[in-house]
Amino acid sequence: MSQAVNTSLGYPRIGLKREWKRALESFWSGRSDEDEFEKRMKEIRLSHLAAQQRQGLDLIPVGDFSLYDHVLDTAAMFGLVPKRFAKLDDGGKITNELYFAMARGSKEAAACEMTKWFNTNYHYIVPELGGTEPSLRENRPLQLFRETKQELGITGKPVLLGLFTFLKLSKGYAAQDIRQWIGKLLPLYAVILKELEQEGAAWVQIDEPILVTELTEEDRALVNEIYSYLRGAAPGVNLMLQTYFDAVDRYEQMVKLPVAGIGLDFTGNGAVQLEQIRKSGFPLDKILAVGLIDGRNIWRADLEQKLKVLAEITAIVPKERLWIQPSCSLLHVPVSTSEEKLLPDAVLDALAFANEKISETVLLTSLVNEGRWNSVEDAQLLSNKVALMELNTLPERRNEEVRAASRDAQQQDAARALPFAQRRLLQQKKWMLPFLPSTTIGSFPQTQEIRNARRAWRSGEWSEERYRLFVQEQIREWIAIQEEIGLDVLVHGEFERTDMVEFFGEKLEGFVFTSNGWVQSYGSRCVKPPVIYGDVTFRSPMTVEETVYAQSLTAKPVKGMLTGPVTILNWSFVRDDLPRDEVASQIAVAIRNEVQALEQAGIEMIQVDEPALREGLPLKASQKDRYLQWAVHAFRIATASVRDTTQIHTHMCYCEFHDMIDAIRDMDADVISIETSRSHGELVSSFEEHRYGQGIGLGVYDIHSPRVPSVEEMSNMIERALQVLDPELFWINPDCGLKTRGKHETVESLRHMVEAANQFRAAR
Ligand code: GLN
Ligand code: ZN
Repeated sequence: MSQAVNTSLGYPRIGLKREWKRALESFWSGRSDEDEFEKRMKEIRLSHLAAQQRQGLDLIPVGDFSLYDHVLDTAAMFGLVPKRFAKLDDGGKITNELYFAMARGSKEAAACEMTKWFNTNYHYIVPELGGTEPSLRENRPLQLFRETKQELGITGKPVLLGLFTFLKLSKGYAAQDIRQWIGKLLPLYAVILKELEQEGAAWVQIDEPILVTELTEEDRALVNEIYSYLRGAAPGVNLMLQTYFDAVDRYEQMVKLPVAGIGLDFTGNGAVQLEQIRKSGFPLDKILAVGLIDGRNIWRADLEQKLKVLAEITAIVPKERLWIQPSCSLLHVPVSTSEEKLLPDAVLDALAFANEKISETVLLTSLVNEGRWNSVEDAQLLSNKVALMELNTLPERRNEEVRAASRDAQQQDAARALPFAQRRLLQQKKWMLPFLPSTTIGSFPQTQEIRNARRAWRSGEWSEERYRLFVQEQIREWIAIQEEIGLDVLVHGEFERTDMVEFFGEKLEGFVFTSNGWVQSYGSRCVKPPVIYGDVTFRSPMTVEETVYAQSLTAKPVKGMLTGPVTILNWSFVRDDLPRDEVASQIAVAIRNEVQALEQAGIEMIQVDEPALREGLPLKASQKDRYLQWAVHAFRIATASVRDTTQIHTHMCYCEFHDMIDAIRDMDADVISIETSRSHGELVSSFEEHRYGQGIGLGVYDIHSPRVPSVEEMSNMIERALQVLDPELFWINPDCGLKTRGKHETVESLRHMVEAANQFRAAR
């Protein structure tokens, strides 16, 4: 076959109508039994394969489907069960009960940790080594390969998480023992591959995204050993060593690895790989899998531009040695645009979700194979061109005023008029807050009643006025509660918001919302990110009314509550015709307008949340500084224009802070609150080490559990923090917003928190 092959790396699990999520939740709640569940999951799995076949895909990935997470699948397949789950483990195939206990916890044992999959918003279950000894409990790729062949007649491409990435994502072993773990797991990989070889699998996709991060010389030697061993162990099966999310580190060395094919990401930062191919060529004995369709974004590809890239590549690598494919698994985009009925035509026509991305892949491949390089002659290419043109000529796409303001803002240094040390004195004088001031992070419980009210209002059943009064009633109730508890800085409670990004997106120009654009975040939990398609433009104040109303009810300060520009950016699908820093700067200018509106309305403590700041961090250490620089700058654009006495707060949820504290200092917030109760000690010392010297509240209790912590527990947390941080700068607050909690536990916990603060004050 002297033709280029089209393929893909993985498909969304959740299903067009989130049927996967429903099947899972119905099983977990006991509404369906195990047989029904297994049967349903098989149907879903096969229907996804059939859908890919219908889109015209030649080489269909199998085994990427999961009941929860593919990293957990890999750990389970190797029997890597943490000791605390030993009671559920009979040593055979991991049962559903054990699998979900590891994912979600059981009565006796806490769930395994969950963390972000590279720089995506997908979260995987962190494998724990050092429990049971590894053994091959089942050959999962083999079974799924077989199933696909038997049920659909498809000879699929089994997908396997590569050993090196798997180990790098695992915990429970010392770095110097990695070789020993390779020694234990490599023979198991060999068995999987040998059995697949016997079953007739021609190709296996081995995912090693870790190869796009900066590896040490020793790491690279280990990767080489792993793949030399596997080639020897199963010489009849071809390995496609698949990378994604960025360009591979050390191109020349990587493409020499002893495998039959290398998969590279040619989108985003990966585009530099074209340069490398031009410069150093590509080995004559390998297949090059060209990840050309962006699997991280929802926009139609510019096919003409993609064809140009392919024309260049085919001049170096003959087309019969090319695979054409999306840049990564389509797990990170929604299933299909077919369910979108409410979007403006020009936006809808410019979107491509998973199915549409497969179609683009198939089309590009056939154009290459048929030598149809000339776009005007091709109807499909022409319609692609027209769709992109219609998107690009929308008036919302370009607002000169916004462009100019954003450009100016990017160029200015966006600093507060006075340094923190001086602001601090002026603010102390203005606010006269007590020692260890207490506050909360913003939201209070979103009860069923509140959700019902919002639904009634959205559906038109409730008038604008009725809903407004309802929200005011909630605010009034919670201002009274906060006063009664004795908190020092109050909040209005965010009752009018469903989601901290969606709320602002709906009020700004430049955003649209899909009706069905869900993607998996973790387990059965899905998110529907807003879509930024135009220049982000401030229309009118978004939060002033509720905040001012809250402030009118109390003599204590009420903090205004906004979502920061970087978080809005990182939790949205972003237009791909502008650099991300420019979009961030546009959002920052819009948020600055809101900050100024609040200040003018007399709200002079304003919190700008940035929980997703870390999520945009590039994978390569050498690129981190540049990102942090523009991200921090965006925050400063949003916040720095206020008066000296106006107190800017920010909040971040738990993340790794150790390499970010300098960036946090550069944000120059007067007060930061951070989620810490789960790893308090570590964090306290990070901030101490970096001599963080601005206002700081390290969450004194975990809001993820309904448990009401005692006064003493919280006092212990405070005690420890005060040993190293300046008590004069310390704030008392919970870990995060309280919207997922019940009312009773919230009130009780806050009472204990204020009591703990009072005890410290009294003892001073
Ligand atoms: N202000 C938001 C809240 O309280 C912050 C949420 C977050 O940090 N994710 O809900
Ligand atoms: Zn938080």
